[in-house]
Amino acid sequence: MKKKKVGATEVLEMIEVTGAREHNLKNIDIQLPKNQLVVFTGVSGSGKSSLAFDTIYNEGQRRYMESFSAYARQFVGDMERPDVDRITGLSPVISIEQKTTNKNPRSTVGTITEVYDFLRLLYARASDAYSYNTGKQMTKFSEEEIVDNIFSKYAKQKISLLAPLVRGRKGHYRELFEDIRKKGYLKVRVDGEVKDLVPKMQVDRYKIHDIEVVVDRLAVTPDMKLRLSQSVQKSMQVGKGLLFLLLNDSNQVVQYSRQLMCEDTGISYEEPSPNSFSFNSPYGACPTCKGLGTVYQVSMEKIIPDWSKSIKEGAIAPLGEEREAYVYKQVQQLAKKHKIDLKKPVRDLPDAQLNMVLYATEKPGEEADFDFDELSAADRVYAEEFEGVIPQLKRWFASASSDGIREWAEGFMDLTTCSSCAGARLRKESLWFKVDGKNIAEISQYNLDKLLIWFNGLEQRLTPKQRVIAKDILKEIRERLQFLLDVGLSYLTLNRATKTLSGGESQRIRLATQIGSQLQGITYVLDEPSIGLHQRDNHRLITALQNLRNIGNSVLVVEHDKDIMMAADYLVDIGPRAGKFGGEIVAQGTPKEVLDSNSETAQYLSGKKNIDVPEARRKGSGASLDLKGAKGNNLKNVSVKFPLGKLILVTGVSGSGKSTLINDTLYPILSQYCYESKQKPLEYKSIKGLEHIDKVIEIDQSPIGRTPRSNPATYCGFFTEIRQLFAAVPEAKIRGYAAGRFSFNVKGGRCDMCEGGGMRVIEMNFLPDVYVHCEKCNGRRYNRETLEIRYKGKSISDVLDMTVDEAVEFFQAVPYLYRKIKVLQEVGLGYITLGQSAVTLSGGEAQRVKLATELSKKDTGKTFYILDEPTTGLHFQDIQHLLDVLNKLVDRGNTVLVIEHNLDVIKVADHIIDIGPEGGDGGGQVLFEGTPEELIKVKESHTARFLKEEMKKK
Ligand code: ADP
Ligand code: ADP
Ligand code: ZN
Ligand code: ZN
Repeated sequence: MKKKKVGATEVLEMIEVTGAREHNLKNIDIQLPKNQLVVFTGVSGSGKSSLAFDTIYNEGQRRYMESFSAYARQFVGDMERPDVDRITGLSPVISIEQKTTNKNPRSTVGTITEVYDFLRLLYARASDAYSYNTGKQMTKFSEEEIVDNIFSKYAKQKISLLAPLVRGRKGHYRELFEDIRKKGYLKVRVDGEVKDLVPKMQVDRYKIHDIEVVVDRLAVTPDMKLRLSQSVQKSMQVGKGLLFLLLNDSNQVVQYSRQLMCEDTGISYEEPSPNSFSFNSPYGACPTCKGLGTVYQVSMEKIIPDWSKSIKEGAIAPLGEEREAYVYKQVQQLAKKHKIDLKKPVRDLPDAQLNMVLYATEKPGEEADFDFDELSAADRVYAEEFEGVIPQLKRWFASASSDGIREWAEGFMDLTTCSSCAGARLRKESLWFKVDGKNIAEISQYNLDKLLIWFNGLEQRLTPKQRVIAKDILKEIRERLQFLLDVGLSYLTLNRATKTLSGGESQRIRLATQIGSQLQGITYVLDEPSIGLHQRDNHRLITALQNLRNIGNSVLVVEHDKDIMMAADYLVDIGPRAGKFGGEIVAQGTPKEVLDSNSETAQYLSGKKNIDVPEARRKGSGASLDLKGAKGNNLKNVSVKFPLGKLILVTGVSGSGKSTLINDTLYPILSQYCYESKQKPLEYKSIKGLEHIDKVIEIDQSPIGRTPRSNPATYCGFFTEIRQLFAAVPEAKIRGYAAGRFSFNVKGGRCDMCEGGGMRVIEMNFLPDVYVHCEKCNGRRYNRETLEIRYKGKSISDVLDMTVDEAVEFFQAVPYLYRKIKVLQEVGLGYITLGQSAVTLSGGEAQRVKLATELSKKDTGKTFYILDEPTTGLHFQDIQHLLDVLNKLVDRGNTVLVIEHNLDVIKVADHIIDIGPEGGDGGGQVLFEGTPEELIKVKESHTARFLKEEMKKK
C-alpha cells in the first residue's frame, strides 16, 4: 500500500469512522486507507450502503453544505447528521450513482461527456463547406487572397471588376441606374452585356435581371497591384461581399465571395459558429423537429383501425360511435350537406367524402409536419365550423390544456423520424459542413471505438491551416473518447439519448467524465459499477477505478463482483447476515487477508462454497417460441428459438443486443398477444408458438413507486388485509373505525401534517431531494387515536416498521397474510421493513419485491417470466435464494428467461442464448443456442471462455 512520507517515517493516511450506527450498523469503528481502492462487500441488506453512502457520503455532503453561507443554508435546510460519533480524514465526496436522472430528450452521450461540445468547435473552425444544391465545395476569399489569386491566375490579361447589385429579380431599376450614375460610375453590365450608363436608363420591369456595376477595367500587370487591390476593396464593398471578375477577352466570369458561396447557384452560408451545430440552439436545430430528430405524426392505422366499420359504428376511432355529442352534430350536418352515408363501411366511401370528415376538405394538401407554435396560435381562434377530425386532433395535441387530452391525442400518433433532417436534428446548412468528408451527424452515429479510429490520424487529412486550429480540440476529444472506451462503452454512439441508457451505462459515463476531470483529493463513492458489464470488460472497469485512485483520490466501492473484490487495495466484508443480523465488520484487510478469514464471503471467494451446477439440464415441455427475422437496433436479422418450460439465459457482452432482442422485441410481442398492449415491438418477421403461453411477466429494476408513499406492503397488496385485520379489533369496532381509517393515503386516521407520508420532502435544486421526518407524528404517519388501536399489542405504525422476518413470525396465525409475506422472505428480502419507502429500495430490491408479488399470485403453468439482471445488488448467498425461487417457477412448468452476466446464474441454465460477438455494430448475432456444456465448446464466444473456468470449479 502507498504510504506518505512524514519526516523519516512512512504513515498511511486514514479515513477514520467511529461509532457508526446508521440503520442496522452496530456502533462500528473502522479505519479505511486513504487514496486507495476500498471495496465493501457482504450479503444484500448487511449494511454496506448504510456505511458507504448513508454514513460516509452523507457526512461528506453535510460538511459541504455547512460550508454554504447562512443565507444559502436557510433555503437548503440543515442536513441531518448521520448517526455516527466521528469521522476524520474525510475529503470532499462525490458519488457516482446509477440513477439515470436525465430524462431530457435533448441530452445525449455526446452532450453529457462534452465530446459533442468539442466536436461543434471543430466543425465551426476546421470544416469544409459544401453547397446543398450542387454538393460542390464552397469557397470564400479575403480581399488579399483575391488579389493574390488574380495575379497568379490571370497575369497579363485584361479584366473588369464587377460588383453585383441585382441577382435574378424583376423590376425596371430606374432609380438604381440613376443612383450609380450619380456616384460617378460609367458602365454597367446588364444581363451579361456591358453598357454605358446613360441618363433615364431602365430595363423591362416584367423580366428577371442580373445587374452589376463595373468598378474598374485594367490589365493584370505588376505595376497595377495597388490599383487592383483598391478596386477589389471597393467592389467588395459595393457588392456586399461579392465580386465578379470578367475576363474581357473570353467574356468569362469568375466569382469571389467573402462569404462561403456556391459559385454555380449563388447560395451562401453564414460563417459557422459552434451554435450552428447545436441541436439545442435555434441557430443549429432543424426547424421542423426543433432539434429533437423526431416528430409526432397522425397514424392512419390508429385513426381507422378497422375499415369494415361505418362511421356510425365508430370506424373513425377519435370520433367513436355515434352519440349525443357536439362533434357528432357537426358530423351529421356535414354528412347531410355532402351526402355522406354514415352507415356505409368506410372502405366503401369515396375518398372525397372520407376526406371531408377527416380534413373538412375533399382534397387535403400534403399534410405538413405540424408546428407546435403555429398550432397554439390557431388554438386561440375557436373553431366554430367543423375543422376535420385530423386537424382537430393535431390542435388538441399541440395545445391541450390538460395532460389527459394531450395523452389521448398522442394515442393516435406515431413518433416518427423527422423527414426534414432524417433524424440528424440539425438544419440543412449545418449538415453540409464536413470534416474529412463527414458531417457532424454522421460521425455522431459511429460507435465510440470506430469514432476514435476516425480521429486517430485525422490530422493527415486536414489542410495545414485546419491542422493548426484543430490540434488542441482533437487532443481533448481523443482523451475523452479514450476514457469512455476504458470503462467498456465502446459500443455507444454520441447521438444516443441519455434517457435510453441503462443505470450501469450512465454510471460508467459519469466515471469516465470524473477520470477526465482529473480532480484530486476527492473521496468517490460508487454503487456496483459492474452492473451490466460482461466479465470480459471487468478488467477495464478495474483499470478505470485504479486510474481514479492513481490521480490521488480515495475510491470506495460497494460491489459483489469477484474480480473487483480481488482487485481492491482494501476489502471490507460486512455481515454476517442482513438487517439486524448484520451491521458488523466480519473481515477486513487486503483481499488475501479477507480470504484467510473464514467469512461467508471468503468461502465463496476461495471456492470453498459454491453454487452447484445441476446434475442434469431440464428437457422442457418440447414446445417453443420461434422468433424469426429480428432487426431492431443492431440485430442482424436474427432468428432464435425459446424452448418452453426451461430456465433460459440470454448472455453476451454489453451492447451486443440482449435487451433489444428480449425487452424491445420479444416482450412487446408477447404482451401484445396476451394483453393486447399497444407497445410496438421492434422490427421482426414472424413468431410461432404463442398458443403455448397465456401470460407474460416482465420483472425489471425500475422503482416500484416514485413517491415515498409506496412500499412493499402496498405494492404486494397485503396492506389491505392488514388494515382489515386492524378494523376487526374489538376496540376499533367500538369506535367505529373501518379499514379506511388505517390507510395513510386517505384523510381520517392519518397524520394531517404530513398527510400520512411520515416525511417531508425538501427539494434541492442541484442535489437530489432530501426527506426528513415529520415533526408532528415523528414519522409514524398516523394520528394518536389511530395509533391507540393495537393488534396483538402492535399499532398499525409498528407493523409498518416490522422487518419482513419479524412480520412472518407475527402473522404466522393468519395464513393468507403469512403466505404473501413469506414470499418476500424467500426472495431474500427478510431484512426490509413492510413500510420501507419505495424510494429507499435499490433497483435490485425493487425487482425482488416485484418478483415476490408475482410469485404470490397463482401462476398458470404457462407463464413466461422475463428478468433483466436480477443479481444486481446480490451477494453469492442471495443469488442462491433467487435461483431457488426461479427454479420453483420452472419446475411448475413455466418458462423463465433471464438476461444476466453473472456466471453463477449462467452455469445453472437449462438453455443459453449467447448474443455477440461484440457490442454495437460488431454484435447483434446469435452465436449459440443450447446447454452450458455445449456452449463452452464454442471458441468465438466471450461468454464461453469465462463459463469454462467457472464450470471447472464444480
Ligand atoms: P446493503 O447495502 O448491504 O445491501 P443497506 O445498508 O442498504 O444494506 O441496509 C442495511 C439495513 O438497513 C437493511 O436492513 C435495510 O433494510 C435498512 N435500511 C436501509 N436503508 C434504510 C432506510 N432509509 N430506512 C430504514 N432502514 C433502512
Ligand atoms: P445489451 O442489452 O446486450 O447490452 P442493447 O440491446 O442494449 O445491448 O444494445 C444493442 C445495440 O443497440 C447497442 O449498440 C446500443 O447502443 C443500441 N441501442 C440500444 N438501445 C437503443 C436505443 N434506444 N436507441 C438507439 N440505439 C440503441
Ligand atoms: Zn428535423
Ligand atoms: Zn406526520
